[in-house]
Amino acid sequence: MRVDVLGVGFDNVTMEEAVDQAMTFLEEEGPHYVVTPNPEIVEACRADAQVMEAVNGADLVLADGIGVIKGAKMLGTPLRERTPGIEFAGSLMGKMAQRRMSLYLLGAKPGVAELAAERLAAAYPGLRIAGTHDGYFREDGPVVEAIRKSGADVVFVCLGAPKQEFWMRKNGTATGARLLCGLGGSLDVFAGVVTRAPKFWSDHGLEWFYRLCKEPRRIGRMMKLPLFLVHVQQEKRRR
Ligand code: UDP
Repeated sequence: MRVDVLGVGFDNVTMEEAVDQAMTFLEEEGPHYVVTPNPEIVEACRADAQVMEAVNGADLVLADGIGVIKGAKMLGTPLRERTPGIEFAGSLMGKMAQRRMSLYLLGAKPGVAELAAERLAAAYPGLRIAGTHDGYFREDGPVVEAIRKSGADVVFVCLGAPKQEFWMRKNGTATGARLLCGLGGSLDVFAGVVTRAPKFWSDHGLEWFYRLCKEPRRIGRMMKLPLFLVHVQQEKRRR
């Protein structure tokens, strides 16, 4: 069942259910794709019908952070739990490793995906890295072809939103992969280029604040969070 938050339908699943669902997709014909919207992306969906279509067209729509959880609660239709993309990816890789499945890493600045590949292969013994490619390419064709040739089961598409959502929708079938996951800046974290907030911050719903302190240039993007909450209030009154 999906919970509507300002037009975006979030799957009301626990993390465990989300990963189980992804593993089920891997047993079926592909491609399926997963998105992990935060309030900023919900705002981008409200502003652009094509972004909305690319997000809602996903097979699994996961609530990335505390903002969406708060929004859903304010609307009286709470979501069961936070399902951050990066944690979803971690659990999924654990299951993939048990079955010796293969993963292609697409996105981030040159060198980052390779570094992430090395670290992930060490962290998840059994996981096969099918290939990597940075996220700053001009033409899709050669990248799609490289993924297809690699025979990857899963592709992590980390090009930032909404680029990655459009990319998965357009190229998913041609990659031959069964599952594609849009995961924003996750490769930077897996590579160790960016660090995630310590548990205390995320437990208190303050991961966004930690990130803002580390990367003050994100302030413009983060102003979308209060805007999102204003829109949720308006929607609540309207309902
Ligand atoms: N990126 C990319 N190609 C682009 C634009 C962005 O590969 O054309 C990468 C960028 O290097 C970063 C990620 O996409 O690794 C986006 O990170 P951001 O922090 O914006 O994503 P978030 O996690 O906030 O969704």
